[in-house]
Amino acid sequence: MRRRLLTAAAVLAAAPALAQNASQADDSYFQAAQTALAQRLAVQPNTGRAKNVILFVGDGMGVSTLTAGRIYQGQAGGVDGESFVTTMDTLPWTGLVKTYTSDSQIADSAPTATALTTGVKTRNGVVGVDQTVPPGDCEASKGHAPATLFETAEDAGLATGFVSTARITHATPASTYAHVADRDWESDADMPAEAREAGCKDIALQLIEWSHGDGFEVMLGGGRSAFLSESTFDPEDTEEGGERLDGRDLADEWAEGGDDRIYVWNEAQFAAADPETTGHLLGLFERSHMEYEGDRPADAGGEPSLEEMTRKAIAMLQRDPDGFVLMVEGGRIDHAHHAGMAGHALNETMALDHAVAAALEMTDPADTLILVTADHSHGMVINGYAARGEPILGLSRYVGGTLATGSDGLPYTTLTYAGGPGGEDGPRADLSEVDTTGLDFHQPALIPMGSAPHAGEDVAVRASGPWAHLVSGTVEQNYLYHVMAHALGLGDSTGE
Ligand SMILES: [Zn+2]
Repeated sequence: MRRRLLTAAAVLAAAPALAQNASQADDSYFQAAQTALAQRLAVQPNTGRAKNVILFVGDGMGVSTLTAGRIYQGQAGGVDGESFVTTMDTLPWTGLVKTYTSDSQIADSAPTATALTTGVKTRNGVVGVDQTVPPGDCEASKGHAPATLFETAEDAGLATGFVSTARITHATPASTYAHVADRDWESDADMPAEAREAGCKDIALQLIEWSHGDGFEVMLGGGRSAFLSESTFDPEDTEEGGERLDGRDLADEWAEGGDDRIYVWNEAQFAAADPETTGHLLGLFERSHMEYEGDRPADAGGEPSLEEMTRKAIAMLQRDPDGFVLMVEGGRIDHAHHAGMAGHALNETMALDHAVAAALEMTDPADTLILVTADHSHGMVINGYAARGEPILGLSRYVGGTLATGSDGLPYTTLTYAGGPGGEDGPRADLSEVDTTGLDFHQPALIPMGSAPHAGEDVAVRASGPWAHLVSGTVEQNYLYHVMAHALGLGDSTGE
């Protein structure tokens, strides 16, 4: 606190006439804003070449999720939530991102991830193919596969990796390597026979056959089943088999393809993989998505956290003197929102913030461009007039403690959904005596739906490092690819 006051004093000294006449000069908010101004004035654009790029994607992490997540994170740490500063909040450059796709007002994660990794907008439902490809049309996808930033980087000799809490064949991580007319073709069992016969390949197979450079150094997340034959039992859920119809065990095949490759499926194996000596690391920690952070301690086989995966990824990738490109996805923010569970969504957002903090700690802003954004938003709103310090997951209470109610006389939670599993066919439930603050509570929704839908307003992007100042204003989502490629000096986007 002492240092902050001194900094503010320095600013006041620089503008004595204005400050000394201001009756608010002793006000704590006024002084804090003066400090913020001084810090902002010290930020200089960095136009050096980026050696490394780290792209953080909070799946479904709209602006309301950022705000509620900030309050949740502060309150979870026992401090004031509203004024809390997350690590994401500290990145100096911010813009708004338009997430519509080439055919839809409101996006799913496939075209939005494709926009980030290839520089083009495309249709809902497709990954790594351009806007001409109708979803599900194998034939039309041939020859319409724009190169991803990760492919270009590998071909140029950089190290590459991705980390996700979702299945690694799910849309966002898949967008780093796959080119497919249907985002759901995660294993061959998910594909119609005619698409297989026409020569299209499932997403898991595309990863194992990925031929750029010496391949991804780091691939960490969930989704084992798409890599296991249906006749092979799962190592963790030993009653269950894999999904693949072609009889192949792709994780083992991949591991056998090189001496410096390690495949791990649990936390102990992951912890034992030495980042100094492991050349390539594949981690598949669940049959499907990894556990929610809040459920992770109960996992049978044990799973690393998103932060732990991020740390190991950076430690491995940093060994390449040419630099690296890494995507880190907080994939389950979206899943919690779909399930109408704001508590889990905010807890997952906090886990992503911890991963961002790890990345900032392990890298140098002089040579590493870090972007933190979302693919699309979700229909969660923060509404009412709750007093400062009220639990963000609680019922709305005014200053003074009175419970806020609707015209039906019933209380409501501060966080609600437009649509979702918390919707009711009849009158609203009386939540007066209900603890709404648990991670598994389903917040009320206006429209009853089994799965809460995505939302279409702009998302935020935050940035630090070389060329981060290009991340400002209101931009198209696919523009962010061009910022990353330009910062790295890769491809046509450099203008060189
Ligand atoms: Zn979603």
